[in-house]
Amino acid sequence: LNLNNAEFIRSAAKAADFPRDMLPQVVFAGRSNVGKSSVINKLLNRKNFARVGSAPGKTTHINYFLIDKKLYLVDLPGYGYAKVSQAEKARWGRLIESWFADQTLMTLGVLIVDSRHKPTADDCVMADWFKQSGRPFVVVANKLDKLKKSEIEPNLQRVRETLELDESVKVIPFSAEKGEGRTALLDAILDHQEG
Ligand code: GDP
Repeated sequence: LNLNNAEFIRSAAKAADFPRDMLPQVVFAGRSNVGKSSVINKLLNRKNFARVGSAPGKTTHINYFLIDKKLYLVDLPGYGYAKVSQAEKARWGRLIESWFADQTLMTLGVLIVDSRHKPTADDCVMADWFKQSGRPFVVVANKLDKLKKSEIEPNLQRVRETLELDESVKVIPFSAEKGEGRTALLDAILDHQEG
């Protein structure tokens, strides 16, 4: 899979805009500011492909990137931003619901959490979306560079326990800043390239 061959396809605000061309889809989800754009950029070795630090909560669009004309990288809008209105939250919920209702082709889910903190209630809801999809998913524990060495293991364990992950779900320690975990995430994606 040539990660250097990545192109932005479209921003979808409703189900009618979702691509339906049978290509596999790897979907990224995470709280606003968790570093989802940074993780995607690190994965693709790009500086500013997915936009870092874009206005949190303003993203009620699902961004589709096509990688090597072989699979979609699907960037779900960030959640959990406190200043977002109820109406906007409801819109997010409907969009996510329609995505999960539609996407028989999700080959892998990637849930990004902040390794420094206990996963939030919103993170648990997102994990439930992935569990209910019946599709494989991994959890990326980002911002690992912010942890002391002694905090790493207990924090990863807390992620696993709080999200109630079963053994088959990998928790990948990751730093979008330092590049740690990139190979592990890439391997997970390559392992699930077929639909
Ligand atoms: P998004 O809203 O989830 O797309 O988050 P962004 O990618 O825009 O990142 C939010 C902030 O976290 C930015 O200031 C990033 O530089 C920072 N950030 C993202 N990943 C890491 C990481 O692994 N380590 C550190 N130290 N900072 C990070």
